[in-house]
Amino acid sequence: MTHILVAGGGIGGLAAALGQARAGHRVTVLEGRPEFSEIGAGIQLAPNAFHALGVLGVRDRVAERADFIDELRFLDGTSGQRVAAMELTGTYRSRFGGPYAVVHRGDLHRALLDGCRDAGVRLLAGHRVTGYQQRGDRVTALTVDGRRFGADVLLGADGLRSAVRARLVGDGGPRISGHTIYRSVIPMEEVPRELRSKSVTLWAGPGWHFVHYPIGGGAFLNLAATRDDGAREEITGAAASRSRVLGEFPGLCDEARRLLELGRDWRIWVLCDRDPVDGWVDGRVALLGDAAHPMLQYAAQGACMALEDAVVLGGLLRCEPWEIPGRLARYNALRRDRTARTTLTAREMGTRLYHAAGADAPVRNAMLADLSPDDLRDAVAWLHGSTSFTEDGEALADNRRRSSAMARGTPAADGEQTVRGRGRFAADREAGITRAAPR
Ligand SMILES: Cc1cc2nc3c(=O)[nH]c(=O)nc-3n(C[C@H](O)[C@H](O)[C@H](O)COP(=O)(O)OP(=O)(O)OC[C@H]3O[C@@H](n4cnc5c(N)ncnc54)[C@H](O)[C@@H]3O)c2cc1C
Repeated sequence: MTHILVAGGGIGGLAAALGQARAGHRVTVLEGRPEFSEIGAGIQLAPNAFHALGVLGVRDRVAERADFIDELRFLDGTSGQRVAAMELTGTYRSRFGGPYAVVHRGDLHRALLDGCRDAGVRLLAGHRVTGYQQRGDRVTALTVDGRRFGADVLLGADGLRSAVRARLVGDGGPRISGHTIYRSVIPMEEVPRELRSKSVTLWAGPGWHFVHYPIGGGAFLNLAATRDDGAREEITGAAASRSRVLGEFPGLCDEARRLLELGRDWRIWVLCDRDPVDGWVDGRVALLGDAAHPMLQYAAQGACMALEDAVVLGGLLRCEPWEIPGRLARYNALRRDRTARTTLTAREMGTRLYHAAGADAPVRNAMLADLSPDDLRDAVAWLHGSTSFTEDGEALADNRRRSSAMARGTPAADGEQTVRGRGRFAADREAGITRAAPR
């Protein structure tokens, strides 16, 4: 039986472990922290993430704890002007085949962890990976306490500062964006009724933006305010005083300020990403999630991409052991462009769209306000609406061939729509779920 080793038990690592276990492999996860846990607050999941969760068999577990969102709202944070809104029910759900939701990170992590336990994944906490060695058809992960774990494949899901990446890509530390995010979660009962909504709301200002949405079944409100302050040092989860946070966002309109003032126990992160690279595979070793393509959170897709990676790997590694290096190379080729595009899009969204200042801000507002509901859905279709990754590698390639045939004006045998549909229903069948309308 093929033995798959996963370094890192975050969202990406557990999803990959689950995908491999469901493919029939023996799987061991090495997590560096003393326990498997996820810190942080809410996380947004677009339909592409729900497709992935379906293939991994945990869609229902996540859905049970998710808050389904009706609208993405974009407002001018200084004037309070409602600039644009994308409705996420009706046409959005039927076009993209799934809901848009927010979920507590801990709930998503727990659903994946439970899935791994049910699938017999061996979960070893307190094992920090420092590197790896390859010899013949075996790979060995080395840990900080001098232990060695041998396997047929090593998947590096050890996050932004991945030790596996350091050995494999060797491109040094991540890029510090110069943006600081302040996060707080407060009980919904403290939020005045007129300020509550089932939306992800974004207030954009010059060099800053402020996002909030309900989590925990509507029991809490997640607040996240980001400032382009030129921060040069990475900070993860340090405490920040209320007065500091309020002082960082001058010029907020009344409604947004009332919401920001509700926050407490604020925590700070300085955001990082990396420039996309061509390769994350070395023989029998591959990276995924933030280890492969860490991105700024502005497109709310980092975890969604990690889930997609896990699904593609799960499909491709249903193979004979001797085929593994070729399949991993194929995984790299299949995932590179999509994840690079998402990384660069997220950067652009943060700087040009959310943080536009001076004369750029009214221009941005006018351009967004001009977009029709269809225009807005078209703009996110490549990201939220992709289901092709749920196919196994061969069908995915088939999908690409059809797409390029269509782009050339050559009709494909049964058309893009059919291929998409086949992928979605195949995924659902595998996940043992029926396609009922989510709540
Ligand atoms: C503020 C913010 C908001 C975000 N919002 C969203 C959103 O709304 N939607 C979305 O899709 N994404 C979002 N993201 C991105 C998302 O959080 C990440 O892309 C996702 O968590 C990556 O998962 P991962 O498992 O690849 O990495 P991580 O979550 O970093 O997990 C890595 C795991 O590996 C472990 N580890 C680290 N080093 C080692 C080692 N050497 N050996 C063994 N184990 C190790 C860690 O302890 C951890 O458990 C956001 C990110 C930020 C910062």
